[in-house]
Amino acid sequence: MDLEKGLESARVVIREDECKGCGLCINICPEKVLFEQKHLNRMGYHPAGYLGTGCIGCGFCFYQCPEPGAITVYKKGYVGEEVER
Ligand code: SF4
Ligand code: SF4
Repeated sequence: MDLEKGLESARVVIREDECKGCGLCINICPEKVLFEQKHLNRMGYHPAGYLGTGCIGCGFCFYQCPEPGAITVYKKGYVGEEVER
């Protein structure tokens, strides 16, 4: 990441083992860039995943998610500590 310019595009990070697989984030995402993954997480749920491109940083998924810490949204231009992958 270029620290002068910040993050080139928005990005969402989902911590799979915090996800309960409720699908709320998938349904609310206006860009349809979230999906249900086929594998199970350590709690036995199909976790949400990010396609890897197309997030606009709106934050809808973050506000919809009932699990604190499961979703982090980084907006375009974000400058800060290292961004998770
Ligand atoms: S921040 Fe918005 S566009 Fe990005 S994944 Fe969440 S709901 Fe979709
Ligand atoms: S809203 Fe939260 S708990 Fe529900 S599927 Fe998305 S990340 Fe998982």
